[in-house]
Amino acid sequence: MNNWHNPYNPIKTEVVDSIVETPMIKTLKLRPQEPIAFAAGQFVELTIPGFGEAPFTPSSRPSATEMLYLTIMNVGTVTEAVHRLAKGDTVGLRGPLGTGYPLERFKDKEILVVGGGCGFAPLRSLMYTLFERSEDFKKLLFRGGCKSSQEFLYKEELHQWAERPDLDVQLTVDVGDVSWKGHVGVVTTLLEDLDMDCSKGVAIVCGPPIMMKLTTAKLSEMGFQDPNIYLSMERNMSCAIGKCGHCRIGIYYACHDGPVFCYDKIKQFPDLWT
Ligand SMILES: Cc1cc2nc3c(=O)[nH]c(=O)nc-3n(C[C@H](O)[C@H](O)[C@H](O)COP(=O)(O)OP(=O)(O)OC[C@H]3O[C@@H](n4cnc5c(N)ncnc54)[C@H](O)[C@@H]3O)c2cc1C
Repeated sequence: MNNWHNPYNPIKTEVVDSIVETPMIKTLKLRPQEPIAFAAGQFVELTIPGFGEAPFTPSSRPSATEMLYLTIMNVGTVTEAVHRLAKGDTVGLRGPLGTGYPLERFKDKEILVVGGGCGFAPLRSLMYTLFERSEDFKKLLFRGGCKSSQEFLYKEELHQWAERPDLDVQLTVDVGDVSWKGHVGVVTTLLEDLDMDCSKGVAIVCGPPIMMKLTTAKLSEMGFQDPNIYLSMERNMSCAIGKCGHCRIGIYYACHDGPVFCYDKIKQFPDLWT
């Protein structure tokens, strides 16, 4: 728990750095006045004075509570203002909010993590946590896809992941180019012939809605059980603390009951992938 009492009151936070990841995506390195102890999968609300507030899932190591990283795609009013921030600027943070990944349910299991595009951001924080607990599960596989090789986040780190003995990584791009020597095809094409027992394994998916939809369908076809598929769901949010109903998914509030959901809990709702 951190020390904030009024859930609407942001913690004053200093921008320590703003790192360009891709033409559309930057990572903010943020130092909140009070440490924010989040679990992988939880999110925070970032306030930019004069522009508004928006939810983001930290991409940093959850155990490093003094410094938070948010990786943010420029899509609108708040995120455009985020991309203009510079070292020394002040922003606000409230959180942590929502539920993270239920790590206790992953114990002694084989784990497949599937990421698409900006979905690498929350997954990086999860991967740090899994690396720290690698003795708790049997096997860890990461499959990630982007539209093109320029759009991969954390390129240096992905190279380091490929060297890890406790991780099996494969990456793909939708469209290849001369600089890309790897696999070409959407991320589901990397899910054939996985070296794991899908019927007992856990799958974690984060990415744009269409990627989540197609990946979930593929995982079901491969034998993953619905309660073992975990999805990180994005919805427009307002209060972010389960009061206003902006982020409803069927009977659930994504901000309070999620954003991490088991597929079996939400699969019946018709607007799931919108
Ligand atoms: C729990 C949660 C975690 C999130 N984590 C991240 C994260 O780690 N990194 C990140 O970049 N984003 C993340 N998002 C999405 C992020 O909150 C939105 O992109 C942001 O709220 C947009 O605010 P804005 O004011 O810039 O855009 P607005 O001005 O509100 O929207 C402008 C336009 O962009 C569209 N739009 C809004 N969001 C998106 C989107 N995600 N992709 C494409 N078009 C969009 C809107 O429909 C609208 O047409 C997360 C969302 C949730 C709910």
